[in-house]
Amino acid sequence: MRIDLHTHSRVSDGTDSPEELVRAAQAAGLDVLALTDHDTAEGWDEAAATAREIGLELVRGMEISTLHQGRSVHLLGYLPDATYPPLAEELQRILGGRQQRLPMMVERLRGLGVEITVEDVLAVSTDAAASGRPHVADALVRLGVVPDRDAAFDTLLSAGQPAYVGRYAPPLDQAIRLVADAGGVSVVAHVWGRSRTERPDEVELARLQEIGLTGIEVDHQDHSEDRRQRLRAIAGDLGLVVTGSSDYHGTGKTMHDLGINTTDPEEYGRLLEAAAAASAASSRETPEVIR
Ligand code: AMP
Ligand code: ZN
Ligand code: FE
Ligand code: FE
Repeated sequence: MRIDLHTHSRVSDGTDSPEELVRAAQAAGLDVLALTDHDTAEGWDEAAATAREIGLELVRGMEISTLHQGRSVHLLGYLPDATYPPLAEELQRILGGRQQRLPMMVERLRGLGVEITVEDVLAVSTDAAASGRPHVADALVRLGVVPDRDAAFDTLLSAGQPAYVGRYAPPLDQAIRLVADAGGVSVVAHVWGRSRTERPDEVELARLQEIGLTGIEVDHQDHSEDRRQRLRAIAGDLGLVVTGSSDYHGTGKTMHDLGINTTDPEEYGRLLEAAAAASAASSRETPEVIR
C-alpha cells in the first residue's frame, strides 16, 4: 500500500487542480492521498468528488503556516472540521495576511526596477485561496525576470532577499490546539528541513505532544538521511506517529514527485486511530476518510 500524506493543488501553490491531483495520484500508483493545501480547505469538495469517482482513498487535510520560537513551522492538520469557527477564522486571518503582503512585495520589486503589478500576480493565482510568494515567483517567470520559481526565491523572495516581506502566522501551540478542538490530528511538516539547527528538539517535541501533537513528518525531501534517522528515533521514544510524504506541488517544485516519500501503513493506521479519538473527544462533525 502506497500512502502520500502531503500534497498541494492550485487552491494553494500547486499547479494541478484538485481533480487533476487526485487522478495523478492514482496514475502514480498511490493507494492513499492526503490533500494538504496551505491554510485552506477550499479544495476538499472537488478532491473528494474525484476520489469517490475513481476509487482512491483520500484524507482531507491542510498545511497551516505557524510561528514557533521566531521560526516558521508548517503544521499538517488532518481531518479537522474546517467549519469549526475558531479554526475557520484563523485560516482567514492567515490568508488575509498573505493578501495584504502582496502589494508590499510588488512595491519592493518595483523599487528594484522590476515592472510587475498586483494584477500580474493575480493572473497566475486565479484558483488559489490567496496569493503567496510562489505566485509572485510564477509572475516573475512569466515576465522573463527569472528562469524558475527557485531562482525567484533564491535571488528575491526568500527571507533575507530584497523583495522579502513577512506576514501574519499564529503560534504553533495555538494551531495544534485549534486542530484538536476541531476534531483533527496534527503532524509537524518537514520539521528540520532547510534549517541550520535541529529545532524543535526532543524536549520541545514532547511538550508539543502534550498539547496535542500526534506525529512528525520524517521522510521528506528537505531532510537528510541523518536527520531522518534522528527524528525517527525521537518519534520512537515519544510514541509520535512517523509519516513520509512528497510535498508535491505539480510542476511548482522539482524533486517532489508524488510518492517520492511515503508513509508506512502501520503508522497511517495509528494516525487514523488518533483522528477517530480526536473526533470523538471534540463533538465536532469531522470529515471521513474517503475509501
Ligand atoms: P508564503 O507562504 O507565501 O510565504 O510562501 C511560502 C511557500 O513557498 C512555501 O510553503 C513553499 O511551498 C514555497 N517555497 C519556499 N521556498 C521555495 C523555493 N525555493 N522554491 C519554490 N517554492 C518555495
Ligand atoms: Zn507550498
Ligand atoms: Fe511546508
Ligand atoms: Fe507543503
